[in-house]
Amino acid sequence: MDWLQLSTSFLSRVYYSIFSNQCSICQAHSKAAICEYCKTGLEYNHHACAVCQRPLPQQQMAQNASQSLCDKCQATPPPYYRCLAPLRYEGTTRVLIQNIKFHQQAHFIQPLMEIVRDYLIAYYSHTTPWPSQLLFVPSHPQRIKERGFCQTQIMANTLCSLLKPTLTSSTPYIASRNPIQKSIHTQAQHTLSRKLRMQNQQGVYQIQEPIEEHVALFDDVMTTGSTLESCAKALQRKGAKRIDIWVIARTPDEKHG
Ligand SMILES: [Zn+2]
Ligand SMILES: [Zn+2]
Repeated sequence: MDWLQLSTSFLSRVYYSIFSNQCSICQAHSKAAICEYCKTGLEYNHHACAVCQRPLPQQQMAQNASQSLCDKCQATPPPYYRCLAPLRYEGTTRVLIQNIKFHQQAHFIQPLMEIVRDYLIAYYSHTTPWPSQLLFVPSHPQRIKERGFCQTQIMANTLCSLLKPTLTSSTPYIASRNPIQKSIHTQAQHTLSRKLRMQNQQGVYQIQEPIEEHVALFDDVMTTGSTLESCAKALQRKGAKRIDIWVIARTPDEKHG
């Protein structure tokens, strides 16, 4: 564990919670790292496939948005129930997530997870039961060492604590030991083509603890979906009957790579 990097990440959050009264985007007075006004200006994923949430052009949307499927989901249904992705991985949203992942800007986690929370509450309140358990796609231990923290774990924990006041005892729980373990050191996914990503994912994830039948699987960004599909297949083999994918943002097609 690199304590210098870990403490940098921790101090970044403490600094913002105690000393900063400014929105990091517009510099307006704000207790949160992103003010309410700037939150509404982020890239929301309004037009998207009803299953994988891949952004679609508005003209490809069916009149009933729940019937709009992308060509990939029409050809082969993915190994999960559906993906929930409130934002698109572009513009300011992309910069914020990259700042968390690569520049230790942990104070952006909470405002982004508030957006995810609101989106999830809107979805589950009308249609369907909440998952019993929240799992997250783990980073490789080497990356955690390099970055000083596992950002998906911090994000999932933050999301859980944000859901608790609304859901109380039905909040999906996070197991003390993440059941999903990554077994092989793989090249960073964003440097590979889709085909190589799929090959690269074979056998990478193992489920080493018992899991619930209805689980949520969290990752920060879904790009091609190969990482999450590989994880979802491993969860199915371990007995998951329904897997809901939760991500902050979904990458539009032209932003792959
Ligand atoms: Zn602002
Ligand atoms: Zn789709």
